[in-house]
Amino acid sequence: MSAATIRFLGSGNAFSDGGRANAAILVSAPGVSLLLDCGGSALPAIKKHLDPAAIDAIAVTHLHGDHFGGITYFVIAQHFAGRKRPLHLGGPPSLSARLRAAEQALYPDFFGRVPLAFSVSEVVLGASALDLGGAKVAALPVRHVRLAEPHGLRVEVAGKLVAYSGDARWSEELAAVARGADLFICEASFFDTEDPSHINYRQLMAHRDELGAKRIVLTHLGAETLARVRELELEYATDGSTFEL
Ligand SMILES: [Zn+2]
Repeated sequence: MSAATIRFLGSGNAFSDGGRANAAILVSAPGVSLLLDCGGSALPAIKKHLDPAAIDAIAVTHLHGDHFGGITYFVIAQHFAGRKRPLHLGGPPSLSARLRAAEQALYPDFFGRVPLAFSVSEVVLGASALDLGGAKVAALPVRHVRLAEPHGLRVEVAGKLVAYSGDARWSEELAAVARGADLFICEASFFDTEDPSHINYRQLMAHRDELGAKRIVLTHLGAETLARVRELELEYATDGSTFEL
């Protein structure tokens, strides 16, 4: 019997290549309901599979729209759905400021004017694990785009360790995120293009042993990776695919 379930509601990149939704990965176990990232198109992706009210918390890797841009839509939809349970958010230091900016850009007539039907808490994630959505979540810096405050996540759930790269180029910091994970969820925007902000599949394979992860699944697949999925020697996610730990 599996202890934890990882469901990829959104497995796409920033450009929704292949028609995939932006990042949204549900971690669930008895007493645990945590979404890892909530990109701009996450809400419809969530609603295809579950009632958003079942999500207790959202952990954000970094402040790019395809990773946190859906939170504003999630919150306003939950307000009008009559949510009463609190929503807990965790992410980089500027998460709160960036959410306030998004709220005022998108729905200035609502946010700050209409009292929310439920409470929203926001915490900064760091190297010391915090309780979030029933799991223990730590965030470690990775190399991506500095202004986005990029982090990888380490999530302890039901005795298992789930690690998630967020967006990251190869670095020792990325290896520290993955180390010892039962499942390492790694972005694969590119197959072999060298990019200053993203690891590619070839680089990941070259550094595979340094990661020390028991199992790796690819997500955030871009057009180049999607065109060559038959060549992948690692598991990869599609929207809706589920992994049991
Ligand atoms: Zn990014």
